[in-house]
Amino acid sequence: TATTHRYVYAFAEGDKDHRDLLGGKGAGLAEMTNLGLPVPPGFTITTEACRRYLATSDDPPGLAEEIDEHLARLEADRGKRLGDPQDPLLVSVRSGAKFSMPGMMDTVLDIGLNDAAVLGLASAGGERFAWDSYRRLIQMFGATVLGIEAEAFTKALEEAKHRSGARRDIDLDAAALRGLVADYKRIVNATTGIDFPQDPREQLDMTVRAVFDSWNTDRARVYRRSERIPEDLGTAVNVMAMVYGNLGPDSGTGVAFTRDPATGAPGVYGDYLANAQGEDVVAGVRTPVPLAQLEHLDPAAYTELLRIMAQLEAHYRDLCDIEFTIEHGRLWMLQTRIGKRTAAAAFRIALQLVDDNRISVEEALGRVTAEQLSQLMFPQFDTEAKAEPIAAGVPASPGAAVGAAVFDAATAERHDGPTILVRRETSPDDLPGIIAAAGVLTSRGGKTSHPAVAARGMGKTCVVGADDLQIDYDRKQFTTPGGTAVREGDIVSIDGATGAVYAGAIPVVPPPVVEYFEGRLTREQRRADPVVHAVARMMTYADERRHLGVHANADTPADAARARRFGADGIGLCRTEHMFLGERRRLVERLVIADTEDERDSALAELLPLQLGDFTGVFAAMDGLPVTIRLLDPPLHEFLPDFTELSVKVALAEARGESDETDIRLLAAVRRLHEQNPMLGLRGVRLGLVVPGLVAVQVRAIALAATARIKAGGDPRPEIMVPLIGSVEEFDLMHAEIRRVLDEVAVETGIAVDAAIGTMIELPRAALTAGRIAERAAFFSFGTNDLTQTTWGFSRDDVEGSFFPVYFAKGVFADSPFESLDEEGVGRLVELAVEEGRAANRDLVIGVCGEHGGDPSSVRFFDRIGLDYVSCSPFRVPIARLEAGRAAV
Ligand code: ADP
Ligand code: MG
Ligand code: MG
Repeated sequence: TATTHRYVYAFAEGDKDHRDLLGGKGAGLAEMTNLGLPVPPGFTITTEACRRYLATSDDPPGLAEEIDEHLARLEADRGKRLGDPQDPLLVSVRSGAKFSMPGMMDTVLDIGLNDAAVLGLASAGGERFAWDSYRRLIQMFGATVLGIEAEAFTKALEEAKHRSGARRDIDLDAAALRGLVADYKRIVNATTGIDFPQDPREQLDMTVRAVFDSWNTDRARVYRRSERIPEDLGTAVNVMAMVYGNLGPDSGTGVAFTRDPATGAPGVYGDYLANAQGEDVVAGVRTPVPLAQLEHLDPAAYTELLRIMAQLEAHYRDLCDIEFTIEHGRLWMLQTRIGKRTAAAAFRIALQLVDDNRISVEEALGRVTAEQLSQLMFPQFDTEAKAEPIAAGVPASPGAAVGAAVFDAATAERHDGPTILVRRETSPDDLPGIIAAAGVLTSRGGKTSHPAVAARGMGKTCVVGADDLQIDYDRKQFTTPGGTAVREGDIVSIDGATGAVYAGAIPVVPPPVVEYFEGRLTREQRRADPVVHAVARMMTYADERRHLGVHANADTPADAARARRFGADGIGLCRTEHMFLGERRRLVERLVIADTEDERDSALAELLPLQLGDFTGVFAAMDGLPVTIRLLDPPLHEFLPDFTELSVKVALAEARGESDETDIRLLAAVRRLHEQNPMLGLRGVRLGLVVPGLVAVQVRAIALAATARIKAGGDPRPEIMVPLIGSVEEFDLMHAEIRRVLDEVAVETGIAVDAAIGTMIELPRAALTAGRIAERAAFFSFGTNDLTQTTWGFSRDDVEGSFFPVYFAKGVFADSPFESLDEEGVGRLVELAVEEGRAANRDLVIGVCGEHGGDPSSVRFFDRIGLDYVSCSPFRVPIARLEAGRAAV
């Protein structure tokens, strides 16, 4: 045959860089073998063999012969033979995929024992040890290979202990264990109809196949889906000579980390169990002792272990976790890999390694993720407090929130002290309530629903889709199936990391990292907290390296001030809609129903000073930095009363014969402005072109606010942004109007405000004609939320409950395109607009201000295509800064 395909590699033939083929465990064993560390000999059957086996439901051709060869070498190496009745070789058969899937896959130890070999093992290592090993083999083989309920074996084990008065497994003597082996064999025969296989090679082959098959168990699939591990990788299988930690008190087994993976504290860390094998340490049958105690139990082995751990860490240049076994005082290394760690540990360890000159700053930036930083920024419930949840929902925005339950936005705003806004679902009208509340709880919706997105952006805790809750707005309460009733004002706690809902107040610990960003920690406090210290340093490194600017989406002076504390380089999106809400709705209503120019002008005249005040505060907070203000964007009807409510009101008034002229006109306006598809209706630039005076009042307020700041000695940098244009003609009309007002104000005040005029690119047509638009615009800002909606042709507010779940399940996309930018489609439009925009206008400044500006993978994309900045909510500013730094190295 032409291709000599290999499915099996001895440990000495591999290395750490072949995880694809050898799996993580196989690669680690190979690497340690080649470092000269004491690894029991063995070989790895590749993931390719597994893929082949799963595809054909048959052993790959030639595999059996390759295993024969490698087994023969292993026997020669150990000077023992599989199944030898005198002194048998035993092996373990271990699964090991490319990405570790803890506890998901199968492993069988002590393969090679049978009724004859067990006697040989007894004369070599003792009666008790031999029968203990044999019963372990049947137990593991029975459960994983033959699919017998593990329960059947543990029950027999308990009975055996009971019979012989043994408290623990290790108190069973040889005779009891021999009896147990007989029990186990009976269980095998009774449940499967076959005898436990006596041929070691048959045991081995069956186990290899079972390990292959374990790739497709339900739990493995579920785990892969949640961890986003591809389905088609397959697992490798490692066959390895057994070493025995269960030979007596001078033997044992343990797991260890080169640093503490929970806190990142330096120093070794782990557990050790004397006279034990394999799983005993993690299985919790006996309580292991801290690794440090090994120093007293076996100083020589301990010293060697520490030396090897230091060597491994130096070699991998990262935290390693290891498995080891001590056999009669001799240390054996059974596994190593780069260890998983918490967010806090990731930051600390990366910087420790920088300080030890093990890795560069650039590598350190690669060792932490923006996701980890965001975890460190959410408040957390005190884990010491044990409490029973009363309901569970979808964890949408992490954190721990405690507050009084309120059932509408207005109450949330009014209430003294923290609240949890409880809604069936939320609408944009609830936004003030969401802002005011400490947390948001809904009974409908998923992770990308309106409140979830809003809450994540604000760093606010949010649980959505708690569909067990019966929410009653009229009675202002919710009930659970368990019978708990929570009324307005009752305290509830919600955990945005788990989705749990609690009655009463669960204690919360504030995250020091946020205190640090807020500037509330003293220098000493900063230094005293190793996590804060590490985050602070990492942020400096990221800022020094990033090419992307990071601006904030901030609408109010308070948000602007926070954005600045969090390190924003400006405001990329200052929305004006909140300036038209609340009390000011009245003025918008008057504007909308105005019949005469006088009526309209008087409404506008009242709006002007209010807006002016808002802008002055924002400019003050962002002194010296750009503030990009978007002209009013949402459809007007969002500021008007609800059609049904108003109709009822007017009808009732009429019935009483006291009809109100204003209400009747308002009702007509609401009817006129009603739209089937508001998202595609009268909004954005269209409003400015249709409603006279609307743009002028906003521009005037901006210009006057800037003038006031200049007079006060400030340095305002306003930029004016036109939303939702599709054509250069729309932009031209708006541009002329804005220019006219700016000039007018300059003449009136004698101070020229130099405001750049640019546009959002959020419709495909704008992206496709970006070259022409760029000839007139000073800047582009991609509104990727709308651009995603209009490119895909679906509305964000409607997709969640309807077809997104099906799309995820069917694999149309893995991530919501509203969370991570769809690079293939929407991203192409963005790239095209950047290219043609820059070609037409070399000075064009380009940013992005959608949700995606704070999404790490999207940030990398924007960096790659050469944007000038991203803009995101203040709470995501540090996250975007970090990711921009990571993207630059
Ligand atoms: P997991 O991936 O679940 O940790 P492993 O394949 O690592 O499964 O094996 C389970 C346990 O058995 C581990 O504690 C491991 O150290 C131990 N073990 C595996 N092979 C051997 C061997 N050849 N000799 C002694 N112990 C072993
Ligand atoms: Mg392991
Ligand atoms: Mg938009």
